[in-house]
Amino acid sequence: MATVLDLLRARLGDAVSTDAAELDAARADKSGHAAPDRPLAVVNAREIDDIVATMRIATQTRTPVVTRGAGTGLAGGAVAGAGELVLSTARMTALVELNVDDEYAVVEPGIINGDLNALLAPHGLWFAPDPASRAISTVGGNIATNAGGLLCAKYGVTRDAVLGLTVVLADGRVLDLGRRTVKGVAGLDLTALLVGSEGTLGVIARATVRLRPLPRGGIATIAAYFPDVERAARAASVISASGLVPAIMEVLDARSVAVIAAYLGQPAREAAFLLVHHDGPGAAADADDSLAVIRSLGGEAELTTDPDESEGLFRVRRSFHGAMERRGRVLIEDVCVPRSALPEMFARIADIERRFGLEIPTIAHAGDGNLHPNFVFTPDPLDPDGVPEHVWRAADEMFVAALALGGTLTGEHGVGLLKKRWIGDELGDDQQQLQRGIKALFDPLGILNPGKAY
Ligand SMILES: Cc1cc2nc3c(=O)[nH]c(=O)nc-3n(C[C@H](O)[C@H](O)[C@H](O)COP(=O)(O)OP(=O)(O)OC[C@H]3O[C@@H](n4cnc5c(N)ncnc54)[C@H](O)[C@@H]3O)c2cc1C
Repeated sequence: MATVLDLLRARLGDAVSTDAAELDAARADKSGHAAPDRPLAVVNAREIDDIVATMRIATQTRTPVVTRGAGTGLAGGAVAGAGELVLSTARMTALVELNVDDEYAVVEPGIINGDLNALLAPHGLWFAPDPASRAISTVGGNIATNAGGLLCAKYGVTRDAVLGLTVVLADGRVLDLGRRTVKGVAGLDLTALLVGSEGTLGVIARATVRLRPLPRGGIATIAAYFPDVERAARAASVISASGLVPAIMEVLDARSVAVIAAYLGQPAREAAFLLVHHDGPGAAADADDSLAVIRSLGGEAELTTDPDESEGLFRVRRSFHGAMERRGRVLIEDVCVPRSALPEMFARIADIERRFGLEIPTIAHAGDGNLHPNFVFTPDPLDPDGVPEHVWRAADEMFVAALALGGTLTGEHGVGLLKKRWIGDELGDDQQQLQRGIKALFDPLGILNPGKAY
């Protein structure tokens, strides 16, 4: 009887790879989690028909499929192991259509977020979702994880920027979901359901994305220092509560400031950092109001309206992941709490840090209450790919704290493999059962990214 590899090769030829390096790369993503064994093969899809053929063969042979974009995910969602097939959409990179008047673009899923924006900029347009990985992650991956970023408190998360999707179902059927119009309420919103579905409901083969005009008017960026991170977080919460909507508002605890300074070779200031960036016609006046809040709460602040200086401040913040990679192994977490609870969440993380004897440098997209605590650890020599149990226990306490404060386990990275053991705590039995029922409707054989997300 023909094997799944025979069938794939006969239909897809050299799009099917069993190259050892490619298989090894597909065992892992950027979460630090790796499957112990290699997957069966990688299919490098070139067009929608390749995805359809792969899914038909996978259904015929009951072979599990892990869809993969650039593999930059931080939840283990794209990790593939023994007996699984990897379906990569990374080579489908075309900008299929650009409609400047109606402000939308149709793209293939493998286009890199930053590359799409470079193509849009000459038209004065912009795809707003801006994960810090925008230079290396695909738009398909951004959609499958409902990626956020620095700018999403003002400009929205990925779901807000997706109008329609072409999706290949597990059995190879092709669905055209959504619309090209600004509004539309026909039927249940399956487009929104697919956004953030982490490769478990279908393969995103094409997307119609909403574009925005590039922001016009001035900019004003504030760099503020506070004696402790709770006070920096309080200032961020008060800025939000006073009706100001900064384009970017980031809090870094003193540990993160020190780690970044060492990485950039700059002198470190022993203080927590708050970065507030306003854009648009009212930027200067809004920045004055933010400055007043910061100073009233004991922050020392400087303001710049110079785009280069402002970019330099963003670079400091965007250096965080690189700086952490130099520290050794890190578990990058992603809890999100109501904005008013940010100071309390920082306090609870500091408490966990002390009790478990861990270093947990933490930054936050303060405009939307999303914290990224980074658990630094020494790997267990017997399980070099794994996270030590005491680190999971510390993370467990942090998830409990976030849920108790009315928050969520993940603001933007997704559940993947890493958060699966906690997802029931947030969803509860009834919702989890309903979600699994929806999954079974889309994928009755359970071959799409099995064991991930819910
Ligand atoms: C340095 C760094 C910074 C980061 N910063 C951010 C940030 O600010 N905000 C943020 O949200 N994330 C961030 N991330 C995480 C990551 O970049 C995002 O989750 C990104 O959206 C993943 O895109 P990808 O193309 O790498 O997808 P992958 O990692 O390949 O896949 C991620 C998930 O999407 C699924 N998937 C991928 N493509 C498809 C498709 N075509 N159809 C169906 N399912 C698919 C996969 O099965 C998997 O479950 C960061 C990561 C790094 C390494």
